[in-house]
Amino acid sequence: MTLDQHKVAAARVWATARMPYLAHAVFAARVRAVEDTGTISIDQGWTITADPAVLGEIDAVETGRLMLHLVSHALRDHAERAAAIGVEHKGWWNRCGDAEINDDLRVVDAVPRSAPDRPADLGCADNGLAEAYYGAPETAQGRRWDCGSGCDGESRDWEGDPGLSRHQQELLQNRTAADVQEAAERDPGSVPEGLLRWADALRTSRVDWRRALAAEIRHAVASVSGNVDYTYRKPSRRGAAAHPVILPSLHRPLPLVAVVCDTSGSMHDDLLARALAEVEALLTRAGLRSAQLRVLAVDTQVHAVSTVTSARQVTLAGGGGTDMGAGLEAAMRLRPRPSLVVVLTDGHTPWPRKAPRAKVVVGILKEGGGVPGPAPEWARTILIEDA
Ligand SMILES: [Zn+2]
Repeated sequence: MTLDQHKVAAARVWATARMPYLAHAVFAARVRAVEDTGTISIDQGWTITADPAVLGEIDAVETGRLMLHLVSHALRDHAERAAAIGVEHKGWWNRCGDAEINDDLRVVDAVPRSAPDRPADLGCADNGLAEAYYGAPETAQGRRWDCGSGCDGESRDWEGDPGLSRHQQELLQNRTAADVQEAAERDPGSVPEGLLRWADALRTSRVDWRRALAAEIRHAVASVSGNVDYTYRKPSRRGAAAHPVILPSLHRPLPLVAVVCDTSGSMHDDLLARALAEVEALLTRAGLRSAQLRVLAVDTQVHAVSTVTSARQVTLAGGGGTDMGAGLEAAMRLRPRPSLVVVLTDGHTPWPRKAPRAKVVVGILKEGGGVPGPAPEWARTILIEDA
């Protein structure tokens, strides 16, 4: 049995007309068919799996409602949040997540008939979070709809390939939150309250730059260290014991990371210190040891190149005009050469025209009403703002 593609297309049109600010998320969620699942669900890679028979029983509008509902589980990180509080009772959590979503969908008449729980059905007040509902005593319900691993983090046997990467998901969440805020600004009252609160929380500058920076650094570290290769660099133990011959061993190269800090007069020490601490924490979590991290302080010349074990040990020298090109050049002269360079600057600096031979993530620091300078096209860029 194949999927009714016309119905899926009509459902997307209906859904994005109802909630235009969720359009990016609705179109990013691919729909595939798997028979006999008895449900239409979303997985952790934002893929919607539809049982063709179940889809056959509902019309395009109800399908559109389900799409808005299912991508809301993904947008709101219900799977990660379930893991964070150690959810054991998945069915109850599913209903709690549904309730968190549905009081917002009700405003635009988009509550799906198949997953209809609202906070009142759980004996709770509106506008709460799933975590709070989960703590309430469970209320009785008949047949439960399964929203999938995108709701509770537990893979189902009908789910397919991994779908969107965590990095792509974070970009989509950011983009969607920005669209929600924009819609609320243009037409106050057009966006459901809970959804706007979600967008505001996600986009709060503090949370925002940390999430974005984390996504970029994770992505960069994975792409430079993800390849497992066979190498002769470290002789394997088996080889050492049995033969004087060196056998290849499995070697996973961890990158050397350089952090280039703009310490010119226009920089704000406090924000820079926090950004630096954040970068260090991210790299530690990625498995990097301090010996693999170099921090360079730069203005027109490189004032200090130091290997540090803690961001607190960084002395911010310098002052005066900035040239981050000089800092990048110094970073590329380090041996071994770094494969990832993180630059923290206010952006008021010339940049080299050509990309250096390393992955570069640029954090542009912005404080108060100041206008940050532009970032080079060849780098991934994050705007780091003070709250
Ligand atoms: Zn649901």
